[in-house]
Order: sequence, then structure tokens, then C-alpha cells
Amino acid sequence: MRIDIISVLPELIKSPFDASILRRAIDKNLIEVFFHDLKDYSSSKRRQVDDYQFGGGSGMVLMIEPIKKCIDFLKSQRTYDEIIYMSPDGRMLDQKISNKLSLKKNLIILCGHYKGVDQRVRDSLITMEISIGDYVLSGGELPAAVLCDSIIRLIPGVLGNETSALTDSFQDNLLAPPVYTRPSNFQDMIVPEILLSGDQKKIEEWREKKAIERTKNLRPDIFD
Ligand code: SAH
Repeated sequence: MRIDIISVLPELIKSPFDASILRRAIDKNLIEVFFHDLKDYSSSKRRQVDDYQFGGGSGMVLMIEPIKKCIDFLKSQRTYDEIIYMSPDGRMLDQKISNKLSLKKNLIILCGHYKGVDQRVRDSLITMEISIGDYVLSGGELPAAVLCDSIIRLIPGVLGNETSALTDSFQDNLLAPPVYTRPSNFQDMIVPEILLSGDQKKIEEWREKKAIERTKNLRPDIFD
């Protein structure tokens, strides 16, 4: 998979890709991520990419011209499955969306900033709008990093153990069961005995029971 991220502040989004699972995915060539500085596509000498909004009001708006130039350039190189705009009024990100996007080949992610982007960008260039929650951040860079992380860890081979993404929360409309590691007894807080029994079938049954219990308690809204 290839992801192209367009931003006015690409330095804000690079570091999550420099460590841990995302870094490993890049090193293993399972994923390519490219950062594009919108200012490189400005036609003005001052590399301007934003302007005041028509009708007045505070906050700058990202202009359509550099965004269109950048997206047109990328589209001239390859076909994209989705051109995503990170936006607080977009569709709320969930595991279903991440699963679906993890099967795609080429994605563009556009990060807004300031007041957002000129509406004509959204009307004419964007194929999908995604929010990471009902709150407003200063830019789309952190939301784009969240989206990328949730997608990339689902690509086969990215996580060390192939099955580990499948046992995470939300994959079956269930939250994950509790997990424990050594020591088995810490200041009289004891790990459930079944997990030390070595009986894999019983352990799986216990995990499923706990996942159901936890989902019913914490997220009855997703329990099917
Ligand atoms: N004026 C806009 C908010 C702009 S915030 C409004 O009220 O809807 C600046 C940028 O941050 C947005 O263009 C978007 O790309 C990003 N952003 C902020 N909050 C976000 C969220 N919850 N999910 C996804 N992107 C978000």
C-alpha cells in the first residue's frame, strides 16, 4: 500500500512513522508513505497556501489551487482508491472503515489546517471525509496519523503475530479480554488461574466470556 499525505506542516506528522510498528512496516516494504508540503505547490513567491475567508470572519482557509495542483500531480502518476479529507464533520472513524481501507492500494490523505479547506476542494476532489471524534484539533495531521496507524497495523505481515490484530477490540463487535503478564502474583493481585493452566481450549473460552462481559459492561451499544 502507498499513502500520500498532503499537509501545510508535514513535520507535524512524520514522527509517528519513525518508530515501532509503523517504522517496521515501512522497513519491511509493506507500506510506503510520502509527505507532501502544500507550500511546494503554491504559485506565489511567498509560498502562500491560505487566505482570508469570503464573507469575513476569523481564521484562514486553505486555498483550492495548491491542493488541486498537488492532487492532480499525484493522480497523474497512479490511480488512487480514495482521496480522504480529515474533517471533524466527516464520517466517524471506526474499525470497519480501517479494515476496508487496509485493503486498498493507493490512498491520498489531505490534512486541513486553520479554518479548514475551501469547500470547493471537498466538493470536487475528495472522495471520503473522516473524523476521529467529536472534538476539534488544530490540524488534520494528528487525525491523519491516527487513521494511518489504524489502517497499517491491519496489513498482513505488519504485526509480528499474524493473528494479533484479529484479537483486538472491535474486530468482532467485541472489546478485547483482559491480558496479564509476569509475575503471576503481584502483591496478592493474582492472575486468573485458567491462564496458567496450559489448557488452550479452556483459555479461549474464558477469553471469549470475558470479552462478552466487558463489552456488555463498557460498550452495550456495540454488543450484538
Ligand atoms: N472550522 C472547522 C475546523 C477546522 S480545524 C470546523 O469547525 O469544522 C482544522 C483542521 O483540523 C480541519 O480542516 C481538519 O483537517 C482537522 N481536524 C480537526 N479536528 C478534526 C477531527 N476531529 N477529525 C479529523 N480532522 C480534524
